[in-house]
Amino acid sequence: MITFYPGPSKIYPEVAAYMQQAYQEGILSQNHRSEGFMQMLQETLTMVASKLAIPEGYEVFLVSSATECWEIIAQSFTDKGALHLHNGAFGKKWAEYDGRINEGVLSHAFESEALPDLESLTLPASDGLLCLTHNETSNGTMLPDTFLADVRERSKALIAVDATSSMAGLHLPWATADLWFASVQKCFGLAPGLAVLVASPAAISRAIALHEYDHYNSFVFIRENFQKFQTPFTPNTLGIYLLGKVMHDRQPIEHSAKLLEERAADLYSFFDSIGLHLVIESTELRSPTVLTIAMEPAELVVVKKKAREAGIILGNGYGALKESTFRIANFPAITDQEIHTLKMFFISLFQKMSRNL
Ligand SMILES: *Cc1c(COP(=O)(O)O)cnc(C)c1O
Repeated sequence: MITFYPGPSKIYPEVAAYMQQAYQEGILSQNHRSEGFMQMLQETLTMVASKLAIPEGYEVFLVSSATECWEIIAQSFTDKGALHLHNGAFGKKWAEYDGRINEGVLSHAFESEALPDLESLTLPASDGLLCLTHNETSNGTMLPDTFLADVRERSKALIAVDATSSMAGLHLPWATADLWFASVQKCFGLAPGLAVLVASPAAISRAIALHEYDHYNSFVFIRENFQKFQTPFTPNTLGIYLLGKVMHDRQPIEHSAKLLEERAADLYSFFDSIGLHLVIESTELRSPTVLTIAMEPAELVVVKKKAREAGIILGNGYGALKESTFRIANFPAITDQEIHTLKMFFISLFQKMSRNL
């Protein structure tokens, strides 16, 4: 089966051998305060920072999930309500979680075909926090770099960005925000159960000043452990090991992101050319990593079934778009050959269905 599901998604095939290797090296039985573990964690962190071109001064942390990052940010980086700007299910959910932890959280929804109007919004002051979703996996939109740069210019607040379905796929404009995070079951091409959290010097200073130590995953406590290449709790050692190995094999992000963006443009024009309706019409806002395509619900049922018979799993739509759209993950672990197979499937099926091409 070839899966185009946007998370959990296809994992790199090399992972099979690396799992075996982790077992043989004995790292999985090692204590997380041992020399062997500490060295392995250090290597993984270095590899992530170098392959993803994370700027000097920004620090990399590993936790369990993107959802945990929502909670860590709500706990440790603000003592007043953040402003959340969102246009889809993940961004909205983050605002809801934050609202259960903090008072005064502001949640502003914007349309999927337009960016938030920064002129009319009151952005948080320098002691505030602004939360954005870089790539909204539910509807296939992405915030352009120019928008993030514009927000950065207009607000001195700390900026936190959920990049779960774009980190390790796209070259992120790191300097335009202070906290970036992603779980590894999307563009990293790994099994779930681990997340990467990147913090700027300003974010770290804020957390130190707030001095929040109430939780096992309070950021300052996580950081104190990571400075010794340890973790506050017994971690996902296998996940950390695999992340290091897989990142080691990757091209620098500048290079791989370019290829991924070219492939996205090709896929969008392919779906358009076979007469399918692309949910996001604005080419500027379309995500290169998660494509959302509309179809009549009845026809979609048939297409999904035929795809399965052909060994292809199309991603279901999400939330309100569940029955009327499908999603295609354009993640780095998916090969060009698999994309080709997907295109051939649609061409052949639509010919059989005598759908007008
Ligand atoms: C998948 C996803 C999440 C949730 O990730 P978990 O690993 O389940 O916590 C959060 N935000 C976005 C944008 C996602 O795509």
